Amino acid sequence: MSKVAMIGGPPTQSSEGWLKPMFPITGRAHYFEKEFELPALDGQGVAVSWHSLCGIDAISTGKMPMFDAGNWVRCKRCEQQIEGRSAA
Ligand SMILES: [Zn+2]
Repeated sequence: MSKVAMIGGPPTQSSEGWLKPMFPITGRAHYFEKEFELPALDGQGVAVSWHSLCGIDAISTGKMPMFDAGNWVRCKRCEQQIEGRSAA
């Protein structure tokens, strides 16, 4: 199999959607929803708490932004959650 480069999008402006945190570097894009903002520990702006449909928590800051998913592979568990929502 050839290795396909995963290209993330720009830092997101969305509060919900298919997103890719800066860490971990590898992995998949998850469907994240913005939970709340809090003052960043380094004093630079705000940090944002995110929660994915499959249960992953992530924090983004100005230095470690949340990115649009680009062509990252999407998490299967998040996709199932979305299908469950639309079927309900
Ligand atoms: Zn997920």
